Amino acid sequence: MNTYTDIPSQLRSLGFRMTPQRLVILQLLQEADCHLTPTEIYRLGADQLPGLTETTVYRTLAFLVDQGLVMASYTGRGQLEYEFAGRLHHHLICKGCHRSREIDHQPLADLYHCLQDATGYQVDSMHVTFFGLCPSCKGDR
Ligand SMILES: [Zn+2]
Ligand SMILES: [Zn+2]
Repeated sequence: MNTYTDIPSQLRSLGFRMTPQRLVILQLLQEADCHLTPTEIYRLGADQLPGLTETTVYRTLAFLVDQGLVMASYTGRGQLEYEFAGRLHHHLICKGCHRSREIDHQPLADLYHCLQDATGYQVDSMHVTFFGLCPSCKGDR
């Protein structure tokens, strides 16, 4: 588990610098405590870092995902969304009303083990979005 304060030393131990861009983007994601699109991150970050470009946001996000500090997810809004990688969880999104809810990793842990045993893959996508119909949308049909 990452806590925000460990991150600069974590990066240094991997041989990376904590640049102002990385710092601002990590801070934004941690404070937001929800998913943000690169465009939202760019808008919020540009206030704090004049000269920030959307290209830099994309590049920085890709770097932070590679380091396991940020998680990306596909939530059907057309852009990948990003989130601070603090805890394992997944998402369930209703195709009818677009409401979403978080689900724990625990019920899926067995599935990950089965997949790994069956395929020999090291499955490391720990942030998955499931789509379906919520109870109230299901009842309407
Ligand atoms: Zn999430
Ligand atoms: Zn619904």
